[in-house]
Amino acid sequence: MDPEVRKRTLRLITYGLYVLTAADGEEIAAGTINWLSQASFQPPLVMVGIKKDSHLHALIERTGKFAVNILGAGQKEIASAFFRPTQVAEGKLNGYPFEWGPRTGAPLLVDLPAWFEAQVTDAVRRGDHTVFVAEVIEAGLRDPEARPLVMWDTGWFYGG
Ligand code: FAD
Repeated sequence: MDPEVRKRTLRLITYGLYVLTAADGEEIAAGTINWLSQASFQPPLVMVGIKKDSHLHALIERTGKFAVNILGAGQKEIASAFFRPTQVAEGKLNGYPFEWGPRTGAPLLVDLPAWFEAQVTDAVRRGDHTVFVAEVIEAGLRDPEARPLVMWDTGWFYGG
């Protein structure tokens, strides 16, 4: 296999962008991710690929729960803020207001148009990311008119 062709081919997979959060009490991790997809209707399952050496990974392993905040088109700047280390100051997470998720205790960013909480059911520990399969246990739609932020439109890549 030609590695350059593989890279360019895999980068043509279409993605959205999401701020994934997890919490164990006051300990919080939050990061922008794109490796996420729905994986079953009944039960409603999603799968996410999470970097093994990240704080997010440690907290998801420990608590078995996470929240997904769906970024809207036009929220590229918010996505960028969650490539940086997580900081809570003056009731904001990396500068953005949040509330606590009702089922997971993970932060929900109130400026983002939609969110869901998920409980991990399975984990595939194979490569440098773990694939967590999780059941959606709560969801909220703050802006029914919003369109999602699409990875291709940002010019960023995470894949290949
Ligand atoms: P970390 O950098 O892991 O942690 C932040 C802080 O927590 C650091 O101070 C660190 O010292 C501390 N910490 C680290 N590990 C622990 C631990 N075990 N216990 C206690 N403290 C710890 N990543 C993915 O996993 N999946 C994706 O799909 C994905 N897509 C991306 C797309 C793009 C375009 C980009 C640019 C990045 C993407 N990333 C993805 C990377 C992700 O955004 C960053 O790794 C993000 O910072 C993860 O958040 P974190 O809090 O886990 O960060």
